[in-house]
Amino acid sequence: MTPTHPHAPSIAPDEDVARALGVSLEAVKLVRSSELIDLHCDTFIPFRLWGYDWYARHEPAPLRGHGFGHLDLPRAAEGGLTGAMWSITTNPMRTAAGRWRMFQRNLDRLRGIFASSQGFLRHVRTPSEWRAARAEGAMGCLIAIQGGNALDGAPEGIASVPNDAVSRVTLVHLSNSPLGVSSSPASTLRRDKGLTDKGRDLVRRLNDRRVFVDLAHIHPKGFWDAVEVHDRSQPLIVTHTGVTGVLPHWRNIDDEQIKAVADTGGTIGIIFHPAFLRPAGGPSDGRMVVDHMQHIIDVAGEDYASIGSDYDGAITPPPELRSGNSYPRLVQHMLNRGWSDTRIRKVLGGNFLRAFDLLRPGA
Ligand SMILES: [Zn+2]
Repeated sequence: MTPTHPHAPSIAPDEDVARALGVSLEAVKLVRSSELIDLHCDTFIPFRLWGYDWYARHEPAPLRGHGFGHLDLPRAAEGGLTGAMWSITTNPMRTAAGRWRMFQRNLDRLRGIFASSQGFLRHVRTPSEWRAARAEGAMGCLIAIQGGNALDGAPEGIASVPNDAVSRVTLVHLSNSPLGVSSSPASTLRRDKGLTDKGRDLVRRLNDRRVFVDLAHIHPKGFWDAVEVHDRSQPLIVTHTGVTGVLPHWRNIDDEQIKAVADTGGTIGIIFHPAFLRPAGGPSDGRMVVDHMQHIIDVAGEDYASIGSDYDGAITPPPELRSGNSYPRLVQHMLNRGWSDTRIRKVLGGNFLRAFDLLRPGA
């Protein structure tokens, strides 16, 4: 049994949470006894935009959860979240020097948010730091960069990040960058859709530091360029995406891409954004997320699907998942589908932790 951290937000009894969420006690107990790791949380964005308070319960959410206001610590703890990758997003409009300067400033600010938790939000960089945090009931917090062009102005690239604070870099984001081409419609502006030499160099440098290479957002050509130069002994991840096998969409990855990630022992987080998930006539609730996970399981097996909600990242989740306390609703859909407890625990956190151990073995 993991102890409750002395500074964890207080949470209601399992029975009350089950009743409030309209799920079975089994779903709540399963979540509460699992590691639940969300591969992509953007709650730092509303903090940057208007000082969104991570520590206050936002209910009802601002804008009723359209775009932002999904996660805060009281709701995350109630929903069973035990860890997450918190993303620092790069503003591509700045100069290279400006991006690097702003990244460093944002890193300090994000760590400041962690610091004011009195130890509940624990910055972790390695599996052993993860385990130490969890043994005390703390939430394990990995720091990610979304948009590797944040590092363009750094004297030594990723090696310049103080204290090896960053565990993952999403190579490109919504716009093309000096590293390569986005999967977004913005890619039409370039003829060669792949990674540039600079992008390939970044992959090698990330491998050198054993930092996760995240292939969410990248154009398929760049995806395969990255696979080619990537050290095959390290796990590739795609932190927040859907799959084209359920819904063909520029933001989603196809079966060959799923297999390429699985081949490295990585994992794929499914996003909670209906525009990328829901085929015409499909369900408009958490089942659409489970459908995409199921496709990964059908294509590659149950060891390669994870959660990558993209909460607070300007998405609008289906109403029942719009609040960060609603992970048990997703688990209820998994149970309804007949998934075993073992499979559910893998998808909630086990698959990511296996990949983390593979990335930094013995660390
Ligand atoms: Zn994103």
